[in-house]
Amino acid sequence: MRAVVFEQYGEPAAVREVPDPEPAEHGVVVRVEATGLCRSDWHGWMGHDPDITLPHVPGHELAGVVEAVGSRVTGWRPGDRVTVPFVCACGTCPSCAAGDQQVCERQTQPGFHHWGSFAQFVALDHADVNLVAIPDGMAYATAAALGCRFATAFRAVVRQGRVAAGEWVAVHGCGGVGLSAVMIAAASGARVVAVDVSSEALGLARSFGAAACVDATGTADPAAAVRELTGGGAHLSLDALGSPATCASSVGSLRRRGRHVQVGLLPSVDGTTPVPLARAIALELELLGSHGMAAHAYPGMLELVRSGALRPDLLVTRTIALDAAPAALAAMGSAPGAGVTVIEPWR
Ligand SMILES: [Zn+2]
Ligand SMILES: [Zn+2]
Repeated sequence: MRAVVFEQYGEPAAVREVPDPEPAEHGVVVRVEATGLCRSDWHGWMGHDPDITLPHVPGHELAGVVEAVGSRVTGWRPGDRVTVPFVCACGTCPSCAAGDQQVCERQTQPGFHHWGSFAQFVALDHADVNLVAIPDGMAYATAAALGCRFATAFRAVVRQGRVAAGEWVAVHGCGGVGLSAVMIAAASGARVVAVDVSSEALGLARSFGAAACVDATGTADPAAAVRELTGGGAHLSLDALGSPATCASSVGSLRRRGRHVQVGLLPSVDGTTPVPLARAIALELELLGSHGMAAHAYPGMLELVRSGALRPDLLVTRTIALDAAPAALAAMGSAPGAGVTVIEPWR
């Protein structure tokens, strides 16, 4: 099969022929029809993820068709249209037993723990735990955006963030996950303030329901701007980018007893990120993390997509062929573009 391979961190990846994957006993091989390009892929390529070994094939936001099935898989067969959460769970550890597959203790993430979906085929573990059927009528490109950014935003806003109608929600960083969060929070009846440095991203945020926007390039203190716009601060704020600055801004934009949800990854040399904890104490803030969403939680989200309340299809702003993926991966660090880019490996 053809796949995007990198041999060294930060060095250009290349499309080349590699052996086709085989399914594990509990796994499947999926023919990849669409796979999203995510900032997490860029972090992996840059060497920020300790789970990766070289050479490596990135890609974790995929949708496709089951091609081959392991001997112990009971729920899936070749030809099924499927997607997966980016966290593939084991199904048997204590966290999985509690229903918290998104923090599985023996998780495998395609494109991190093993070769991912920037390829014509990808192997996925524990298919009966992790596969999700793609609803009839949903395009593969739309489904590809669900497993990482849309589901992550859904869980961050609805479950971890406990959004309520009428609340103010601030979203710091309006890439794929941030725009998803804007759409989901607005559909939940919240009033959303979108914060980004890109006017194009803020334009999309407005079209997805943001009531107000803060252009962080022209604002000395984006957190103060959010507090001003919201009459004292947001009830719920998300760092959807993942940087010390956006994390601090998110915490700084909350009102008393507000909730901060960290969604964007925060890799750093020493593994820690400064957080304004003094403010968390004084204002009794809640600081929460959010890490994907389990396969069993998809039906509630998919029902809102079916009804038209949520439109993940609108997030996909660009589709590219596999040959264009190495350059697009490298560009994610500095010029990610607005919206979600989806790679179509069979193009
Ligand atoms: Zn992702
Ligand atoms: Zn588990």
